[in-house]
Amino acid sequence: MRVSANRFAEQADEALADEKLQSALASASQRMCEQRERAFAQFPPGEALRDRAQWIKRQTLAELDRHLERLSSRVEARGGVVHWAADARQACEIVLEIVRRRGGRRVVKGKSMTSEEIGLNDALTAAGIEAVETDLGEYIIQLADETPSHIIVPAIHKTVEDVAALFERKHGETRGADHEALTREARQRLRAKFLSADVGVTGVNFAVAETGSVAIVENEGNIRLSSSLPGCHIALMGMEKVIPDLSALSVFLRILARSATGQKMSSYVSLVTGPRRDDEEDGPEEFHLVILDNGRSRLLADPVLGEALGCIRCGACLNVCPVYRHAGGHAYGWVYPGPIGSVIDPSLLGHEQARPLPFASSLCGACRDVCPVRIDLPRLLRGQRDNVVAQRAAPLAALAARAYREMMSRPSLYRLAFRTVYWLSRPLVPLGLISWLPGLRGWTRYRDLPLPARESFRARWLRRRG
Ligand code: SF4
Repeated sequence: MRVSANRFAEQADEALADEKLQSALASASQRMCEQRERAFAQFPPGEALRDRAQWIKRQTLAELDRHLERLSSRVEARGGVVHWAADARQACEIVLEIVRRRGGRRVVKGKSMTSEEIGLNDALTAAGIEAVETDLGEYIIQLADETPSHIIVPAIHKTVEDVAALFERKHGETRGADHEALTREARQRLRAKFLSADVGVTGVNFAVAETGSVAIVENEGNIRLSSSLPGCHIALMGMEKVIPDLSALSVFLRILARSATGQKMSSYVSLVTGPRRDDEEDGPEEFHLVILDNGRSRLLADPVLGEALGCIRCGACLNVCPVYRHAGGHAYGWVYPGPIGSVIDPSLLGHEQARPLPFASSLCGACRDVCPVRIDLPRLLRGQRDNVVAQRAAPLAALAARAYREMMSRPSLYRLAFRTVYWLSRPLVPLGLISWLPGLRGWTRYRDLPLPARESFRARWLRRRG
């Protein structure tokens, strides 16, 4: 299934018509929102830690070059190799070169949105190298030949019945819709892949400049196996993942899992510092860290949008977003969906590739309220809208915004517009004809447009004041 960010409206329409998807999305996102809320309610330091996390991210991004240089020199001092990738193509070439040099035929992968971003699986497959996703959700969507629809729950759109049917089709065995049996089946199949893999590829949650360590969090243990069983571990990170030191790490670890899944801490937190040392029995002989730009420098230089690089990919803004909760991740057409995706996708992909995304938001502000690093997502979405308008890519939206501004800044015009809308809509609303007016179909297809009040709030307020 291939989707495009520029087809958001059509893809969202398809998602809205899919009842099974709607029910899967509604229950999973609601559950995650409640878990997050409960976790923070039982954690009094949570709000102060969010402030602290925001401060750390801002300070780090302000001196990103210095922190990255420090990280690079520490990784190399511990025997690792650092690679800098300007874009997705270069990042794939770096990984392919390492795998080929080792004569690798099979790569096991921990969940990594950065690897999705660069299209690593396709690049490996095209080079004749088997790429095996080992996170259960990623394994499911790889079997289904789909893309992730959530940044931490890739198969959020699938029910247990869907997974049972998929496994039966692909594995040829019937287990029934039982979570435990299905998990056991995936685990048995993956075990052999881990043991025979030549290279392990993982993402990075945080890269600690002070020690040259990469911190990777997970709940399944598959990332630990991917990073320690094969002879070579390649960790992929966006350049914004660097943090200054271990004390900063302790701040982020305490809010990441709470925001993502409502857990106090993820089940496994791995700190990888270079390859296996001479006196160690386990671990890879080679450790490579690939640091990816792919449009992040451009984002960093933007005085408004640069804030988005503070994202720690917890997924909380997706779970709470009314647009994501109905449209689902595939409607966004690229790797990062939801409010954060609508902000960063146009900058990483290019505006012409993701024009509708900044408009896929009601600007209700729920995403800002839950973001653990307090990213002001509505402000950034407006910033991206400004960019689209500045490129004259949405002339009708620009015209409407200008007209709205004129009306709202002139009381007489506002009163005239209000009265006109009231009298025009009076005969149309009861007949349901309002949905056929140009531009209103999207607003009225799923809800009624009520008749405006005869007397505006402003008029009532003035009257009450006498
Ligand atoms: S923007 Fe904030 S809430 Fe959304 S994924 Fe990033 S850190 Fe989480």
